[in-house]
Amino acid sequence: MNRFYLKAPITGVLLLILFGNDVAAAEWVEVARPPNFVSAQEWGSQPDPIPEARKHQPKYVTLHHAGVLWTVDRDPVEFIRNMQLWGKRRPEIEQPPRNTYWPDLPYHFLIAPDGRIFEGRSLDYEPESNTNYELAGHLGVELMGNFEEQRPSLEQVESAVRLVAWLVAKYDLHLEAISTHSLVAKGQTSCPGRDFSRYFEGSPWQFKSWVTQVLLGKDPQIDLGQPLENGPTELITETKPRDK
Ligand SMILES: [Zn+2]
Repeated sequence: MNRFYLKAPITGVLLLILFGNDVAAAEWVEVARPPNFVSAQEWGSQPDPIPEARKHQPKYVTLHHAGVLWTVDRDPVEFIRNMQLWGKRRPEIEQPPRNTYWPDLPYHFLIAPDGRIFEGRSLDYEPESNTNYELAGHLGVELMGNFEEQRPSLEQVESAVRLVAWLVAKYDLHLEAISTHSLVAKGQTSCPGRDFSRYFEGSPWQFKSWVTQVLLGKDPQIDLGQPLENGPTELITETKPRDK
């Protein structure tokens, strides 16, 4: 191979070594907390105290779905309250190994189909999981719904994008910090469901591109695209209760 062909890639590699992601980070704007934010106090969160030993330094933002079909008759606040209560009661009502005590919600944020972002567990503490991965450092962002069976709404995805951009800026993270549950707990889960996981595939990930737009001070140009082949077609905001 002659020198001409070698030169461009080598220059690229050198720039990457010298500047890493700081070239992009230098152009990032200050990102405000998304406006449709509901604090833990506002929705009436009642966590138990979490042991000091579980304090952590946020390093990653990891996306989840609830894995429970969302139907239009549901109330997001009731859903979150029930999840918090269930976590605290797991030792009584769940079988091993799922009977561990969760003093608070397993996730740091939960996003409703209408785009509202509910504050969950304090950011100062590591999350909970039924799968095995190093929990410390992860901030869990859950989208209500089951994206194996239904599609997220535009409002929900836009809130996720703006929330993740805010967290990336707040903790001075790189875009590589963004991931999904199935990517960090490989082979253990299909979370966050194929119709949401699709935005975390290919090069570059669409989700990262949308987050980058927010970090550059622009509105994210989110296009959720056509349904996947053999994938869910029903929108989360249009899913009626199933006949029992
Ligand atoms: Zn998950």
